[in-house]
Amino acid sequence: MKIVILGRQGSGKGTQSTRLVDHYGVVHISTGDMLRAAVAEGTELGREAKLIMDLGELVPDDVMNGIVAERLAKPDVVEHGFLLDGFPRTPSQADALQDILGDDGLDAAINLDVAVDEVTSRMVARGRADDTLEAISRRLQLYERETEPLLEWFERHGVLHTVDGVGDEDVVFGRLTGVLEPVLD
Ligand code: AMP
Repeated sequence: MKIVILGRQGSGKGTQSTRLVDHYGVVHISTGDMLRAAVAEGTELGREAKLIMDLGELVPDDVMNGIVAERLAKPDVVEHGFLLDGFPRTPSQADALQDILGDDGLDAAINLDVAVDEVTSRMVARGRADDTLEAISRRLQLYERETEPLLEWFERHGVLHTVDGVGDEDVVFGRLTGVLEPVLD
């Protein structure tokens, strides 16, 4: 199984990713987690990435493509497949992923869809200090700008599946496996 998951902050993407990984036994690859680990270890990549991440910008495509290509070549991923989370972030990264995967390509790109109003009230309800309405709306706008061209890319390549992310966690998970079952046959 080779899938990508996309979803706004507050969409439940983290929770559902964990469940998908447990259910299908695939490797969870989160580029955000990989970069944060590099920052914590203080590697050269980590030092570069920290500056960019602190500004809320994207790490350059060539750097990300290299990191992901290397990770996807590891035996655990080759054997068990993957759930990619946070990559691709740009159409050019999507092209690179397609090159890496070759003929087989992705099985699916899942867009876990929760409307802006709904994720905003979820994040406000969470009540974290950095979750001011203004910060939330800025992050969501950034996400929108970043993701719109990607959704088009996946749509054009016939792998996009939009799944309604509103509702009980188990119900949403059922929708996800419902979409994936036929794709994985
Ligand atoms: P995330 O946890 O996915 O929101 O990622 C945290 C930060 O890491 C992002 O704001 C970016 O600065 C960086 N990052 C993660 N994945 C990528 C990617 N695929 N391309 C570029 N930058 C990324």
